[in-house]
Amino acid sequence: MELVPTIGLEIHAELKTATKMFCCSKNDSDETRPNTNICPVCMAHPGTLPVINREAVRHVLRVGAAIEGKLADYTEFDRKNYFYPDLPKGYQLSQYMYPLVSGGSLNGIDITRIHLEEDTASSQHDPDTGATLVDYNRAGVPLMELVTEPVIHSATDAGNFARDFQLVIRYLGSSDANMEKGEMRVEANISVAPLGDRGTKVEVKNLNSFRSVERAIEYEIRRQTELIASGGVVVQETRGWDEAAQKTFSQRIKEGSADYRYFPEPDLPKLVRSGVKGLSDDEIRFSIPELPAARYARYTSLGIVSNDAGLYVREPWIGNFFDAVIAAGRFKDGAAIQLASNYVATDLMKLCRDSRKTETQFEQNSVVKPELFAQLIEMILDKKISSRGAKDILAIMFEQGGSPKEIAAREGLEQKSDENALLSIVQQIINSNQTVVTEFKGGKQEALQFLLGQGMKLTKGAADPNVLRELLVRHLQ
Ligand code: MN
Repeated sequence: MELVPTIGLEIHAELKTATKMFCCSKNDSDETRPNTNICPVCMAHPGTLPVINREAVRHVLRVGAAIEGKLADYTEFDRKNYFYPDLPKGYQLSQYMYPLVSGGSLNGIDITRIHLEEDTASSQHDPDTGATLVDYNRAGVPLMELVTEPVIHSATDAGNFARDFQLVIRYLGSSDANMEKGEMRVEANISVAPLGDRGTKVEVKNLNSFRSVERAIEYEIRRQTELIASGGVVVQETRGWDEAAQKTFSQRIKEGSADYRYFPEPDLPKLVRSGVKGLSDDEIRFSIPELPAARYARYTSLGIVSNDAGLYVREPWIGNFFDAVIAAGRFKDGAAIQLASNYVATDLMKLCRDSRKTETQFEQNSVVKPELFAQLIEMILDKKISSRGAKDILAIMFEQGGSPKEIAAREGLEQKSDENALLSIVQQIINSNQTVVTEFKGGKQEALQFLLGQGMKLTKGAADPNVLRELLVRHLQ
């Protein structure tokens, strides 16, 4: 009996708004002083009333449009009732019957819905005193929840979907979605059953990196498969992920939605989108920027290799730089554009990594101006400098700035392709390598390669290797 895993994901992401979901308290995930961004509304003082944050609604609708989901005109908020110290009202305002977005898909994964709700406070357990401290800065922060259909069948596909979704909401500016900071949180529903069957699903929580998403799913697939194979029964439950032990562990028997006693929030009006400024279909759709998939397609249609295209999509700061280089340069064909891409994706990226320049540093005081970078590539294409010389010039541009033409002239890196200039070099090589010259004359072909190397060394890579080779052969005969 072959068992097939089925996975569905639930992804929560904190939205980037100025204020919280239902009040005017600041929404600032960088605030370190506990209980500063709070007010009577998000602290659930009696008699306070919530007000819907239009910016948060707009974010969710834009994400919905990006995944081509159906944007609801009519929605309402519901109370999801449960008790926990991080939930001051005793219920979470969420959407149950009428989510803002229904359907849609992202890179082949079908999406069930996206709804809007509020985040809870964050609790900190102090192991010394055994006390739990609650910080309400996060209570009431707008939270978007995306639910996929159970259509994923491997840990890798699940991890990739989460990565793809993170990128989309970052492109949209809806969320910073840093998993380490808890701005994006993934839960996975996993079941294992014979093909065509669903089995019993287990929910795994506390996954705060893509790696732990993948590891936890792999672990659950293995655990459930072994359990079923040995005649056991999978219990429907919520499990946590123990990062240190790389294992899931039972937390509680899963509650059904009936346990939450959902009911429509009586203190909020029903939300009818028609007529609300900024929320019309057109206003939402026209605000969607180029998304990762479209950006990737744009690069591959230019003939750029998929590795480079993938880098520019995942790291838009370097992608933006590449776009500016292409706009500034006169690159006549795909080969020229790919050459430019090689120097951006490989050489410039290496310089950035080695100098540990962060993307903001790179963007804010970029010493390498795209126009000058484009000139550098044009000089290679015009054979004014060699590829080796180009790398040296780029390193200098990166460290000190300056134009590639000036640097090439100053450092003697202009490609020497004119025979007279190279003639004395050839004479020098022959004079100082007599043994190798004799070997070459005796029929050892590799000797030529060595002599050529000496010439490149003498000219710091500035010799045109083809011209140098010709001259050498001519003078050796
Ligand atoms: Mn939720």
